[in-house]
Amino acid sequence: MISAPAPHRATTDRRAGARPAAQGVPPTGPIAPSRDGAHLSAEEPTGTKTAYDAIGARESHSNDGHTTEGCGMQATRGRSKFRKIWTRSLAGLAALLIAGAAGVVLAYPSVAATTCPGCYGLTELQPGVYTEQGLSGEQRAWVSQVVETARQRVSGFYGGRSGSPKLLVCLTEECYQHIGGGKERGIAVLNRSVMLSPRGLDPVIASHELSHVELHQRLSGGADVPQWFDEGLAVVVSNDPRYLAPESAPDRCLTDPTGPLPVTLGEWLHAAGQDPGTYAKSACQVSRWLRQNGGRAALHTLIKSLGNGGAFTALVKVAPQDQPTG
Ligand SMILES: [Zn+2]
Repeated sequence: MISAPAPHRATTDRRAGARPAAQGVPPTGPIAPSRDGAHLSAEEPTGTKTAYDAIGARESHSNDGHTTEGCGMQATRGRSKFRKIWTRSLAGLAALLIAGAAGVVLAYPSVAATTCPGCYGLTELQPGVYTEQGLSGEQRAWVSQVVETARQRVSGFYGGRSGSPKLLVCLTEECYQHIGGGKERGIAVLNRSVMLSPRGLDPVIASHELSHVELHQRLSGGADVPQWFDEGLAVVVSNDPRYLAPESAPDRCLTDPTGPLPVTLGEWLHAAGQDPGTYAKSACQVSRWLRQNGGRAALHTLIKSLGNGGAFTALVKVAPQDQPTG
């Protein structure tokens, strides 16, 4: 959930790729975006490509000179010159890559931390679950229980899990800030990993973030869903009592949508910052859509149809008064 209003927004903006936690309840959750993640991922290849392009240009220049020289001596000098240029090029590439990696670490510590938890002082509690060191037996047991409950909640809803995202769990604010966390309770990083703060160490927040990851792992071919659907679904999956009535209720809505719901991450962050009810409204819309279309099976059908190129707005019909923008 992208929850926390302003703080979340700041966190999200600063850390493209991470998705803040939900709003409302204590700042929870999930943030969003894979779109940001995609953006970040795209930047890395670009930098690398630039480096390779530069080397390619130098190689071409070197080869041209060698060809025009002729005799063995000149050829030797040409090869020597080529080796020198090649060596410099490799050194330049290495420097660029190191600088690029350092830049990523500085700009996106959460990405670096989820890539290498041990580099940030975290230790593996169980496969795929990392925590700070020195936890008591009771704390370790609590982390394991939260993770297990959250995984079961996600697995139960989706009918299995399509991946095993890393979870980085902090029991102190110091640890959370060190790995790039902010005011949010939890965050899905690049929709591939999850970070939980000491304030988000509970099954609702954990399953909310894991739902974001699970959904995006199942979406293929560049398919995506509006932010309101992603967040609303995470609230449904996590069964968040802050925003939804119990499953046994005839209608789980606590707050009816009164207008268009946010489609883009930017729209979401703005709306959620202005209206704490944005999560409840989105969850309301998703829960009604699920109920009116066959429940969880409808989600699987939607994911498949989106993967085949279907348009979300054509596949998901909502009441006119609830029509989201876009
Ligand atoms: Zn979320």
